[in-house]
Amino acid sequence: MGAIISRFAPAPTGFMHLGHIVNAASVWRETRARQGRVLLRIEDHDRQRSRPEFEAAILEDLAWLGFAADEPLVRQSERGAIYEDALDLLRARGLVYACSCSRADIALHSDAPNVGRPFQGRQRGEAESLALHPNEIWYPGTCRERGLREGPGVGIRVRLEPTAERFVDLRHGPQEQRPSEQCGDLLVRDREGNWTYQFAATVDDYVQGVTLIVRGDDLLASTGRQIQLARLLGRAEPPAFLHHPLIMKSADQKLSKSDHDTGIRELRAAGWTPVQVIERALSMASR
Ligand SMILES: [Zn+2]
Repeated sequence: MGAIISRFAPAPTGFMHLGHIVNAASVWRETRARQGRVLLRIEDHDRQRSRPEFEAAILEDLAWLGFAADEPLVRQSERGAIYEDALDLLRARGLVYACSCSRADIALHSDAPNVGRPFQGRQRGEAESLALHPNEIWYPGTCRERGLREGPGVGIRVRLEPTAERFVDLRHGPQEQRPSEQCGDLLVRDREGNWTYQFAATVDDYVQGVTLIVRGDDLLASTGRQIQLARLLGRAEPPAFLHHPLIMKSADQKLSKSDHDTGIRELRAAGWTPVQVIERALSMASR
């Protein structure tokens, strides 16, 4: 086991709220506890929604809170060549194909639109309720054998294997997920030409040598697909994963950017100290 390298990877699509602080505090705490280093990665792969002013605000808030990365930050928007290389590698292995389906097309042909497919893989214990991701649509492989040409307005997908991915989450314990039944062939680049979160993050974690991923429970169900994608990209050993509790607005809704009362800037303006903000965030995360 080499050095522990983790990352904090915010998307600059809004201001930070207490939910982000739970993640940042967890990343730094878990990494420092293992004598590891933290990287900062700005996940601005979504060119339509990312804004420089949000990135600037995130950096300022992190500095105010005292979360310092150990290396200069990287931006996904500047890493297109790295993603192209990774895509080339998958293409050379015959693992990708062009897909012209819209989200609506897929919902129409999927058995259970918007809620994913009945999940046949098993997750044990408390992770069971996380088997279906709310925004998950199972892609039935419509374009798999169509031989469409890649080009503008056409997405690209990677063929997933029908295998079960087993891993041990550092908080939830042993997990088993079957990505081919959860989400189907993964979108690598969407029809607008944006690299997808799953692809960019998995490539970056591999290329940057990230060995520990600390993130919220809402992403537990998508861990198996990242592990499989990393393997298809040639990664010999997947990173370790630790999924932490989220701040929930209600039983099934996590805190979002629109919940202004939990914004860091508002709390700061109201006279809160960094320690108070961090403690407040951690105390609100459900157990
Ligand atoms: Zn398709």
